[in-house]
Amino acid sequence: MKVGIIDADLIGRKKHRFPNLVSEKISAYWKEKGAEVELKLDYEDLDVYDHVYISKVFTDTPFPKNIVESDRIHMGGTGFYFDKAPNLPDEIEHHMPDYHLYDAWIDSEVEKARKNHDDNEEAEYQKLINNPEYDEKGKLIVYEKKDFDEVNCRSQFKEYTDYSIGFVTRGCFRKCPFCVNQKYDRVFRHSPIDEFYDPDRKKVCLLDDNVLGCPEWKSILTELINLKKPFKFKQGMDERLLTDEKCEMLFGANYDGDYTFAFDNISDYDLIHKKLQLIRKYTSATNIKFYVLVGFESTDAIDIENMWKRVALLMEYRCLPYIMRYQNKNDTPWKMSKYKGIYITMARWCNQPSFLKKMSFREYCLANQKRHKTEGTLCAAMRALTLFETEHPEIAKKYFDLKFK
Ligand code: SF4
Repeated sequence: MKVGIIDADLIGRKKHRFPNLVSEKISAYWKEKGAEVELKLDYEDLDVYDHVYISKVFTDTPFPKNIVESDRIHMGGTGFYFDKAPNLPDEIEHHMPDYHLYDAWIDSEVEKARKNHDDNEEAEYQKLINNPEYDEKGKLIVYEKKDFDEVNCRSQFKEYTDYSIGFVTRGCFRKCPFCVNQKYDRVFRHSPIDEFYDPDRKKVCLLDDNVLGCPEWKSILTELINLKKPFKFKQGMDERLLTDEKCEMLFGANYDGDYTFAFDNISDYDLIHKKLQLIRKYTSATNIKFYVLVGFESTDAIDIENMWKRVALLMEYRCLPYIMRYQNKNDTPWKMSKYKGIYITMARWCNQPSFLKKMSFREYCLANQKRHKTEGTLCAAMRALTLFETEHPEIAKKYFDLKFK
């Protein structure tokens, strides 16, 4: 039996760096049955396989139109079915993932990077041989080739190599209209941690949608803490459900990377404000990030102002806003907005904490202008700022000079 596995996001998205969990589970399931399993990196020659499984998470990942489902070709994931993605059969869903599915691909990517590095170093070396340069003492400058940093190169694949990955819960009761998670109306325990936990892996990554909404949240956090390994909830947590007890456990845990929450609705402003005060009672950490959804209800000045209100509140509590521009499988509304430039510039400024922490929005735009090459014209960031400020000076006055303290 020959089984081909295709992670469509890996093929279609240049900088994609996260394993497809379904692909890993299907691989393990078939390997256990003795099948020859291959991670395919293209869509060629699919007819040599007895089964081909194609998974796609993102709706905008490109996919060849001529490939259709059949008895042999199986397609799944939110990228194909959005909120109607069918469940996997239990024997696959609850199978330990094959954490080595991507190993050969990672090795080949590292080899490609090594070759690129070596070629570039050789080119620099030859440049100096052909055009010798001398230092101030008249001594010939010899180019010293640098060694390839394999450890650093491999670190970009850490999500594939370092983590046990899984869902301890499924479902969410909120039914936010912009979310693919519409199948259930509650959060429920889905898998024991043992089902996907590999003790040889350094860390644990949970993909749960709303773990804090699960009645068993406390035993789940306790189990995770008892593993004594750094863990993270990658999809973000529901800060509206934070309590003293939850904060104490969460912020006292060996957490991996940023704590991620979401501030999607301006109507939650007062509640989120209270929860920010609660968070700050338990931690002064600066690795607290909030997704800020924009361009969903509208893409006009009201939406821009609502974005700013949320960003300003988060900055006041030293939390990092991350601008998420809404798109669905058919539309990207913010791209049609008159204020498209503001959405882009805000995302560039907010989503890179090094900019957000150092400069105000106006300073960021001015810094872009300084680097702008065409004299007498405005760079894209300054054009966006100027357009908005001219039309809505009161909003600009309130927010454009805010600094992260
Ligand atoms: S709270 Fe989060 S997971 Fe639940 S429906 Fe809203 S966006 Fe989706």
